Amino acid sequence: MYIDILTIFPEMVKLVTGWGILKRAIEGGLLHVRAINIRDFTMDRHRSTDDAPYGGGPGMVMKPEPVVKAIEYAKSEQEGKVILLTPQGERFTQAKAQALSKQMHLIMVCGRYEGIDERIRYFVDEELSIGDYVLSGGELPALVVIDAVARLIPGVLGNEASAGEESFTQDLLEYPQYTRPPVFRNLPVPEVLLSGHHEKIQQWRKGMSLQRTQKRHPALYQQYLRHHQGKEE
Ligand code: SAM
Repeated sequence: MYIDILTIFPEMVKLVTGWGILKRAIEGGLLHVRAINIRDFTMDRHRSTDDAPYGGGPGMVMKPEPVVKAIEYAKSEQEGKVILLTPQGERFTQAKAQALSKQMHLIMVCGRYEGIDERIRYFVDEELSIGDYVLSGGELPALVVIDAVARLIPGVLGNEASAGEESFTQDLLEYPQYTRPPVFRNLPVPEVLLSGHHEKIQQWRKGMSLQRTQKRHPALYQQYLRHHQGKEE
């Protein structure tokens, strides 16, 4: 998968792509991440990417020309899905991450300042928000999306099964996990996990997932019930 991040702070991208699973995916050739500096597409002497808002008001607005030129540059070698990160976008979810992981080329547009010139929206395919709060730029949201998407690309996670059992994948939160030692500060690992009885372990995990989801994320639990009604034996 090819991912282009259009930003005025390309250095921020390196903060995340140089570590862990993303680093491995890039080194393994499964993921190609490129930071494209929007400033490189400015025409004026000061290389300005922002200007005052028409109609007045606080802050600055991202100019349309450099952003749209950067989008066109990103598309010049290969068509791609253009995603604008904005608090006004559709809420990013695990289901959306699944859908995006099937794309060949994502082009992520990161806003800054008070936001973007409205006309940029005509050159965008989708708008995504990572939550109901306002950050100072689209770089962190873009990196959140990339991290969630990259781990769903086949071959990126060492153990293919691990993404399948994670929270949200089956409309449930994940069950509790334990590792050695068997007792830590008087807190024992549940007996069943030490039993070696695969079927009982599966039952326990499913039960814990259901309990957790019902308690911590009632809306997700209702969704699980809707999707799975009549499917359970
Ligand atoms: N004035 C804009 C508004 O009220 O919608 C917010 C601008 S924000 C300060 C600057 C940039 O940060 C946005 O253009 C967007 O790219 C990014 N951003 C901020 N919060 C975000 C969120 N929750 N999800 C995705 N992107 C966000």
